[in-house]
Amino acid sequence: MPETDKHSIEKTVYELSSTGRSTNLMPECDVPETELPVDLLREDLHLSELSELDVVRHFIHLSQRNFSVDGGFYPLGSCTMKYNPKVNEVCARLEGFAQSHPLQRDDTVQGNLALMFELQEWLKEIGGFAAVSLQPTAGAQGELTALLMMRAYFRDRGETGRTQILIPDSAHGTNPASTTMAGFEALEIPSDEHGNLDLAALRTVCDVSVAGLMITNPNTLGLFERDIETIVQCVHDCGGLVYGDGANMNALAGVVRPGDLGIDIMHYNLHKTFGTPHGGGGPGSGPLGVSEKLADYLPGPMVRQTNNTEKLQFSFSLFTPEKTIGRMNSHFGSFGVFVRAYAYILQHGAEGLKQNALHAVLNANYLRELLRSVYPLSHDRICMHEFVLQGKIEGSSVRAVDISKRLLDYDFHPPTTYFPLIVSEALMIEPTETENKQTLDAFAEALKVIAREATDNPEILHTAPHTMPVGRLDEVRAARQLKLRGD
Ligand SMILES: *Cc1c(COP(=O)(O)O)cnc(C)c1O
Repeated sequence: MPETDKHSIEKTVYELSSTGRSTNLMPECDVPETELPVDLLREDLHLSELSELDVVRHFIHLSQRNFSVDGGFYPLGSCTMKYNPKVNEVCARLEGFAQSHPLQRDDTVQGNLALMFELQEWLKEIGGFAAVSLQPTAGAQGELTALLMMRAYFRDRGETGRTQILIPDSAHGTNPASTTMAGFEALEIPSDEHGNLDLAALRTVCDVSVAGLMITNPNTLGLFERDIETIVQCVHDCGGLVYGDGANMNALAGVVRPGDLGIDIMHYNLHKTFGTPHGGGGPGSGPLGVSEKLADYLPGPMVRQTNNTEKLQFSFSLFTPEKTIGRMNSHFGSFGVFVRAYAYILQHGAEGLKQNALHAVLNANYLRELLRSVYPLSHDRICMHEFVLQGKIEGSSVRAVDISKRLLDYDFHPPTTYFPLIVSEALMIEPTETENKQTLDAFAEALKVIAREATDNPEILHTAPHTMPVGRLDEVRAARQLKLRGD
């Protein structure tokens, strides 16, 4: 990279500023100048002065430093960083969708409502649920919504003594966090030696104080909960509800319907399973699917179809379920994400979704086989769409973080590192269905080279990355002493 370019990225726009430079392409003023009626101009407001080209180059260079699915292999386990078909973006940008306003009258946005209605119907079918609300704008918000619904459900039944939510120790951190936010108490259930929820431990805690269980299937070890039906039965027998964390639907869509397994309520992550880009904070969408008994508590607005058979017309209108817990968002949720998910499901169809799930599982197992002789596996079982390795090499001081940082030097985004918490030195790898064999082979090869380096030259791993614009960061200090401003 030429020195000047490098220079311009290392600096902030404020440091690049040069008095008198501007992007001002306005024509000469041809009306009389007047004073502003109020004092809006602040003397102390330091704005950077740059030419348009300076600004464009600065931000383009910054953007090129981002790693993205469009830029390379991104095996971030539990996040499902799969390819996002570009046709989804084209659809989301169609004027009728992108330019509509959330406060428009229903009869002027019938197309939007039809899309939402069909998406609700498709998600019902995919998950095996009686009703779906598209309201929540993230998986975590779906969890919170579901827990608030569970609370309302038990309140109506006079079962206010149900204060506990059972959560496996392999669960995503949002599960206990949502539980606490909803006013429940989180009780951790251990995993057994096969990486599944410990059934015996579950049985000892299932009683009338339990409001429900939150379970991720396949779990965050990438393993199918083999006893899922017994687990569900056990929780139902003590009067509790079962929440499914649907973040891992990429392994199941078109193959297994969580509703058929007895799951009462589940969030989907449209931004993981249904072809919507994510990362960097959003936007996401976490619709909720529920069984019949919880349908009345869903947050609105939801969309329904009214059939005018005389005129052979359909129309779509908004409604709010009778015992709703209220709104979770000011308007409809992440509408642009609905369009992408709709386009994705439409493009693939039932058979395509199933093939995607099967390929995601195949790809994960292929990688697992390539790597199992090099790194210890957390559990030696056929995996679903992801698997967990341990970033340990016998006789070497190298840790998972060193391996992840070194992968950056080989142009790969690292896997999820140090999660799930129950595996020491965890490296959680999710290749997704959209990567080809050459990419998977190249990734496995890089991890094999790194394993050799761990023995021959551990220092190169401890000090990695070496090819990135910034080297190893002090992540603890960065989190504790936030510096969010350039000045
Ligand atoms: C991503 C994820 C969540 C949370 O979803 P967000 O949309 O990021 O809020 C919950 N559980 C699991 C297992 C996840 O992977």
